[in-house]
Amino acid sequence: MRSYRQTLVFNTDRRRELINITPDVEKALKESGVKEGFVLVNAMHISASVFINDDESGLHQDFEDWLEKLAPEKPHSQYYHNKAEDNADAHLKRSIMGREVVVAITEGALDFGPWEQIFYGEFDGKRRKRVLIKIIGE
Ligand code: ZN
Repeated sequence: MRSYRQTLVFNTDRRRELINITPDVEKALKESGVKEGFVLVNAMHISASVFINDDESGLHQDFEDWLEKLAPEKPHSQYYHNKAEDNADAHLKRSIMGREVVVAITEGALDFGPWEQIFYGEFDGKRRKRVLIKIIGE
């Protein structure tokens, strides 16, 4: 069995961004040499997500609007967590959008359904954050 580990680093310009990381995961898969197995991709921070959905700009705006309705960033004072920080909304948004994804690897490729793409969801950006890619298989 092969095992391969890699981290991606992000430092977004904005507090919230959705970034398509599918090409990065495909590159890691190629480097791993794994043809049959699984890839795990997870955010290594509790204010960011990794999730699978469509790479469509209207949908991405819908995610932003929907998450802001569920857990608005401001006023910061509305959250207990923000006594020492200002990112309670980011923790809540991350919980909704999820920590990680697992994708099957078949014949050396990500075995996606139609339109599936992997995204990094940043909810408290403008600082260095990491994503873990772990590939297991043969
Ligand atoms: Zn916090």
